Parts: sequence; C-alpha cells; structure tokens
Amino acid sequence: MSTVLQHYNHLHQIPELGFQEHQTAAYIANELEKAGYKVTRNINNTTGIVAEYDSGKPGPVLALRADMDALGHIIDGVHCARHTCGHDGHSSILLTAAEELIKEGSIKQGRLKLIFQPAEELGSGALAMIAGGAIDDVDMIIGLHLRPKDECPKGFASPAMYYSASTTVEVNIHGIPAHGARPHLGVNALDAAMMAIQAVNTIHLAPSLTYSVKATRCICDAGVTNAIPSKAYVCWDLRAPTNPAMDELKAKTLQAIKLSVEAIGAKADIEVSKEIPAAEIDNEVSQIITEAIVDVLGSEGLKDPIFTPGGEDFFNYPIERNVKAGFWGLGCDLTPGLHHPEMKFDLSALENGVKITKACALKVLG
Ligand SMILES: [Zn+2]
Ligand SMILES: [Zn+2]
Repeated sequence: MSTVLQHYNHLHQIPELGFQEHQTAAYIANELEKAGYKVTRNINNTTGIVAEYDSGKPGPVLALRADMDALGHIIDGVHCARHTCGHDGHSSILLTAAEELIKEGSIKQGRLKLIFQPAEELGSGALAMIAGGAIDDVDMIIGLHLRPKDECPKGFASPAMYYSASTTVEVNIHGIPAHGARPHLGVNALDAAMMAIQAVNTIHLAPSLTYSVKATRCICDAGVTNAIPSKAYVCWDLRAPTNPAMDELKAKTLQAIKLSVEAIGAKADIEVSKEIPAAEIDNEVSQIITEAIVDVLGSEGLKDPIFTPGGEDFFNYPIERNVKAGFWGLGCDLTPGLHHPEMKFDLSALENGVKITKACALKVLG
C-alpha cells in the first residue's frame, strides 16, 4: 500500500493560496529529503521547490511537475482557502511516485527533477519557477490534472490535455469631467466604456475556432448622478484554442478598444494583465504517456486527447524554455466540477496517478 492517501490527507487539511503555500511546501520538501532527494527550497524567493535525483549515469533530464496552491472561496460569508482544483491530489501523487522510484532503485540513467510549483491559479507560478532557473537543464517535462467525471471517469486517463489560451485585458478610460447640465464640455467615460464593449462584441475569428471575448467587469461612478463621469474601468476575458488564434483575438481586441474610446475623445490605458498560453504538446512525450497509461489501466482505460476551454499555466514551461512537454488527465469520478466549493473525487484513483507517473518516469529514465 502506498503512502499517497497519507500525503493527500495531510495536504488536504492545510490548503493555502498561491505564493503562500508555506506549510504545504515545508511538508513536501521534508518528505522529499527523507526519501533521498537533493531539495532546493524557495525557488526565486517563492514557496516553489525543486528536488533532484541523479542516477550517476548519462541520460536525459526528466522533470515531473505538480502544483501546490488552493483556491480562495467565500463559504457561508467567510473567505477561505480550499483545494477545489485537486492540486493537493497532484502533489501527493508526485510525492509518492518520487518516494517509490528511489526506494525501488528503478532509475537507471539520467536525472529526475521534481518541480513543485506555487500559484498555478494565479497564472504566474510556472513563470516564477522558470525565472528561478528550475528547468534550464531539463529535456522533457510532464504534468497532470484530475479530470471531471463526465470528461474522464475513474479507471480512465487521457494522454494529452489540449488547454486553451486565456488572456485578461484591463482598461482604464479617461474622459473629461463636466456638470450634468453641460455635457458638451466633458467627455463621458461611461459612453466610452460602452463604445469599447460594443466594439469588442463585433470581433470575429473563423467560426471553426472555439473562441470567446467578453467584458466581465465595468466600474464607472462619478460619485454623483448629475455630473459627467471622467473615469471608467473595464475588464475583458479572452479565450482561444491555440496561441496564434489568441494573438489574432488579442490584437483585434486591443485595436477595437483603443479606436472606439478615442472616437469620442477619451483615452484608454490598456493593460494585458494575465496571459496563459494554450497547450504546446510534444508527440514523443504524448506517446510515452500513452504507453504508461496502457501499462497501468490497459488499452480499455486509454481515453482520446481532451480539448478544454480551461487554462493551465504549465504550458509556460515549453513556451519559455526549449523543453518537450506532455500533460495528461487522470479520471477519478470528480464531481460536481473543478473549482466548485464542494468538489470531491474518488480518492482510490490517486493510486492510478502514482502508477502512471512512475511508469512515465521509467520509460525515460529506467
Ligand atoms: Zn484550477
Ligand atoms: Zn488546477
């Protein structure tokens, strides 16, 4: 019997938000040291951890990555952190697989690196690890995520998760204040915000692409009802299935905002405040994962690749550095859905996660 449930139960009780995973990281780092890894803590002054095992023989450098952060929810009126994206599951799977790989002495060549990253939900944890040099010497990196039951039930796994790109655009609009009786002397920021929202709503990409762009927040208040408001804030959420499609959508969005706001004499300060790239999956790595899934679950447990509108900051690794990447999905009868405050899954599926993770590692380093 593996220790995965023990690790999971511990991590599940100490959910922490992005970049605040202090207890989580301390627990994982201590356990990795006990298992025999060379552990580096506080990568790039964050809670991120890199652990390494060198076989002493030449060979590839394989990185396995898990995320550690929980989500913030408001439950019964109280702000709290809760593991509703299953990152405690990912960390306990990777930690257990790492322990067993060393205990069984099965790594015969190359080096194994374990990346426990903070702040996936904030979209900036992977970038912090990359800036800290975590994958500078890595040839190949593999990540995983628990999947909702309707997408991939327990007993199944998908060898490739094609996540979409997501981008957040925030705009501060500057008009000119005036008395409500003399609107011709002002520039109404609320009008400019409305123009920009309408202009963005007219954007089209090819209908075959599963994209969307929509305003998700608009704040405008002069503090009184009889004056022309001069400041407005609008936020847009953009989704696209590939990185080139996101480039096109973003360029059209920024142009539509700028031109429509300027058309009535206002100015727009535009900030692209969050960008998560779409999946960049390497076929060779997908093949390794496919074989690992078949070894553990049989060919009947192998699902097709999954295309999802969700975002995953993992794909910064292959985009920022020249590493081959693969990302797989683990079926665990997860309901009612990821990020739902009452999210739950069948804990016995964690064992499948450990076995598939080990099988992936041994196909590269065994
Ligand atoms: Zn999430
Ligand atoms: Zn997640």
